Amino acid sequence: MTDRKAQLAANLAQVEERIASSCAAAGRKREEVTLIVVTKTYPASDVRILHELGVRHVAENRDQDAAPKATACADLSLTWHFVGQLQTNKVRSVTSYADIVQSVDRTKLVTALSAAAVRGERELGCLIQVALDAESGERGERGGVAPDGVEELAAAIGAAPGLRLDGLMTVAPLAGEYAGRQRAAFDRLMEISSRLRAGHPAANMVSAGMSGDLEDAVAAGATHVRVGTAVLGVRPRLG
Ligand SMILES: *Cc1c(COP(=O)(O)O)cnc(C)c1O
Repeated sequence: MTDRKAQLAANLAQVEERIASSCAAAGRKREEVTLIVVTKTYPASDVRILHELGVRHVAENRDQDAAPKATACADLSLTWHFVGQLQTNKVRSVTSYADIVQSVDRTKLVTALSAAAVRGERELGCLIQVALDAESGERGERGGVAPDGVEELAAAIGAAPGLRLDGLMTVAPLAGEYAGRQRAAFDRLMEISSRLRAGHPAANMVSAGMSGDLEDAVAAGATHVRVGTAVLGVRPRLG
């Protein structure tokens, strides 16, 4: 095994142990939680190693980095998640490789994604990104729709050709009433998810939790955790 493969294997084993013990503590089955490895800023060679180690879900947040990486890894059976803020001029590119876009936060984006999916003859999964700090007035560059905008977006995605409404995503807020209260934030996301599922029963994905707070997300009921640093190491630059 190369040094990098050994390192990634050890990190993955640690993350796996964290997910497994969080599931056990919450009385959940391990299979209820899917690990998505966030490979942003890391090379295609790492994606290839992760695939050899059994990873099947990867996520990226910038089209410029993700597009060539996805092309370089096109021979691997991987589900690609897009988790970054998405400008409409990048939608066509993202739709060519992403299976699921987790950062849908405005109707204009829904329209663009739908057109690109239809044109590319693809079905694209969509998660609505919820900004739990939308009312704090201190939101950063992370995107997301306020909780009271979720239903309108869900209806738009549900009616859009080429798109499939899969559920919700959030990033624990740095500002507002949920700052530093990850568990409360993820509990709130689960409430919003319950409401959403009442009208859209198939939209049952809940993507929450990263390297620092995946335990809170699993405890709250997340179905997908997005882990970068804890698997790949501290990123060389902000991403
Ligand atoms: C980078 C990123 C992650 C992973 O964060 P880590 O703290 O490195 O695990 C998860 N979700 C989103 C949206 C990200 O941009």
